[in-house]
Amino acid sequence: MEFIDLRSDTVTKPTDEMRRAMAYAEVGDDVYGDDPTVNKLEKLAAEILGKEAALFVPSGTFANQLALFTHCNRGDEVIIGDDYHIVQHEAGAAGIISGVQLRTIETDRGALIPEVVEKKIRKVEDIHYPKTGLICLENAHSNGRVIKLENYEKIRNIAEKYKVPIHLDGARIFNAATFLKIQASEIAKYADSVSFCLSKGLCAPVGSLLVGEKEFIEKARKKRKIMGGGLRQAGILAAAGIIALEKMIFRLEEDHENAKYLAQKLLNFDFIEIVEDVEINMVFFKINKQFEEEDFVKYLFENGIKINPSDDGIFRFVTHYWIKKKDIDYVIEKMEKYFTAQQ
Ligand SMILES: *Cc1c(COP(=O)(O)O)cnc(C)c1O
Repeated sequence: MEFIDLRSDTVTKPTDEMRRAMAYAEVGDDVYGDDPTVNKLEKLAAEILGKEAALFVPSGTFANQLALFTHCNRGDEVIIGDDYHIVQHEAGAAGIISGVQLRTIETDRGALIPEVVEKKIRKVEDIHYPKTGLICLENAHSNGRVIKLENYEKIRNIAEKYKVPIHLDGARIFNAATFLKIQASEIAKYADSVSFCLSKGLCAPVGSLLVGEKEFIEKARKKRKIMGGGLRQAGILAAAGIIALEKMIFRLEEDHENAKYLAQKLLNFDFIEIVEDVEINMVFFKINKQFEEEDFVKYLFENGIKINPSDDGIFRFVTHYWIKKKDIDYVIEKMEKYFTAQQ
């Protein structure tokens, strides 16, 4: 059975075109710099993000941790939102790999507050103080919100004033750019390095990129080796990544439209409350009614629909390439059936 899978956009399988490109990809040993397909992907990624160079890595987590590892020295402090992926969902890697200290600050629904960032920067030399090594941003935020450029302008000015570099976790930067109706490079220009995923809404099976200035990427290339990320004939994977960048960015708008359509349909249930603005491909909602969550998830599963359990009562449905309007109609129909039977 083909499931309708609303758990995440990471569940997207490669398209037929990607599979064909992978099968016939020209490859070489990328640790020697000999893989033409990886080289092409890296060049393309750098161009699209408006940076000098890029590096292909296995995952978004890898790209973020490699950024920390390359920007910082052990014992440095990293200023970062307390609800960011690097803090919440990377298994404490920053402490293990880079030996940095994460100085987490509360965000305004995903945006760092410029005044707070400035306050937290270590401004003087003191034997008690760690050095502020990096500021981390995230866009789109994992709550589905897109951070606006006015905020980045302010953070950039502060970072320059104190000469602290910025890393942007742009796992879904193309969703953010689509929402803002701008090129991703317009967001990337506020950061010294950017990571982004090929394997989410862009449908590639594996891979992320870290982009930045040439010197930074050269340094990161060695650190990638230390982390065990020096892949050999990685062109097999990069081939799908090239299609992701050339063909899949421009259709993300459709996923966003479908998310809005889904949210609208959900609002027809008078006990459902949408709890975040729908800006990208995610719908967050609460079900304000007595029901057995486990039973509900199981019922949908038995009807060919996969969802994640709620996070503290909040469900997240994610649209992507393999979710069409008719799938959403089907999900709504099954939910109607389920909740009608409960009465
Ligand atoms: C998915 C995601 C990552 C990590 O990507 P993986 O490839 O799953 O390791 C990093 N940051 C954000 C904001 C993400 O959504």
